[in-house]
Amino acid sequence: AAKADGKGVHRFYEPEMHASAKDRRLLEMDLRGVMSESGLHLVYQPVVDAGSEAIVCFEALVRWDHPTRGAVSPSDFIPVAEEIGLIPQIGEWVLRTACLEAANWPDPVRVAVNISPIQFANPSLPGIVLSALAAAQLPPHRLELEITEGVFLNDDAATDAMFARLKAIGVRFALDDFGTGYSSLGYLKKAPFNKIKIDQSFVRGAAVPGNRNAAIIRAIVALAESLEMETTAEGAETPDELALIRSLGCSHIQGYIFGRPMLSDEARARVAGSGKLAMPGLLVTRDPR
Ligand code: C2E
Ligand code: MG
Ligand code: MG
Ligand code: MG
Repeated sequence: AAKADGKGVHRFYEPEMHASAKDRRLLEMDLRGVMSESGLHLVYQPVVDAGSEAIVCFEALVRWDHPTRGAVSPSDFIPVAEEIGLIPQIGEWVLRTACLEAANWPDPVRVAVNISPIQFANPSLPGIVLSALAAAQLPPHRLELEITEGVFLNDDAATDAMFARLKAIGVRFALDDFGTGYSSLGYLKKAPFNKIKIDQSFVRGAAVPGNRNAAIIRAIVALAESLEMETTAEGAETPDELALIRSLGCSHIQGYIFGRPMLSDEARARVAGSGKLAMPGLLVTRDPR
């Protein structure tokens, strides 16, 4: 059965629920051509330190500029790309491009890249990561790989080996969309995550009195702290949500309140322009929008 919000192999057939089969075939054909026509670009969303509001990281998010449909959301085309076998190419392009662009940002600022479970099951991934880092001359500690719970449905031994090989390179790991998958928790003790990203479905509405999401966020933060992992609360939009997330002890925050996804040059200007250096990142002002 399909998961409600899994980002991996479980939602292959969800995107076309809105589209006819013919429409879906057209989308597939366009997607097959996209790599040759470079119809993709990346945007970057700031992740700030909850205390200092310094930008410590930007998450790379892929965008598809479709000639007639306009911007197609990754939530719609990544699952299609996974199904028709295009994720290895798209994922490699994302990794290489994100490393090249991040190399233009000030040194402590990291880039986070989403990795599909299909990429994570491919033994060539460590080689691609090494080559992307080398081509960009980006130190490995400035690259964070965002992985969803879907990888734990892959073969156990191969998944363990993949974590070990990537960890040896020196990259960081974040567990993305935590709480929306099957959350068996057992893997938290053996996979080397540096950070848990609390899914925005828990943040949304958490500040409404009587809402139970705050209790869930508090529990996730306690779990992460006892495992010596950081926490990023995703999708903070309002001052109320921000205040609540802070009070619950999340170490990092990502959401429209601090900035929407932006082009690499804007990201660089955002950290450089804010002037004051506050290790391990740079001060940021609230997004005026
Ligand atoms: P994600 O990794 O959980 O990324 C966060 C998503 O939440 C992004 O949507 C971001 O724009 C959105 N978001 C951030 N803050 C807020 C907020 O305050 N309010 C609201 N309403 N939304 C917020 P986006 O860019 O549409 O990406 C959707 C998903 O597509 C991502 O979720 C990720 O799972 C996937 N994705 C994006 N880029 C890539 C990629 O390069 N490779 C892979 N495999 N998946 C990707
Ligand atoms: Mg992510
Ligand atoms: Mg996420
Ligand atoms: Mg999410």
